[in-house]
Amino acid sequence: MKFCPKCGSAEVYWASGLPQLWSIWECKDCGYRGALLIEDSELATKIRERYLKGDGKEKAI
Ligand SMILES: [Zn+2]
Repeated sequence: MKFCPKCGSAEVYWASGLPQLWSIWECKDCGYRGALLIEDSELATKIRERYLKGDGKEKAI
């Protein structure tokens, strides 16, 4: 399972329509775009908690 490194969400999906040379993922929750994802669910949970607690102001969930 893969998670967004920015918000810890599992709502990440392959950003299709981009040049196939790039492995770009996109996060549905925070809009993160990049090649890096995390696969550690414990770490993802921590990031998720921090994201919702702190930077959650940016976006109402
Ligand atoms: Zn995210």
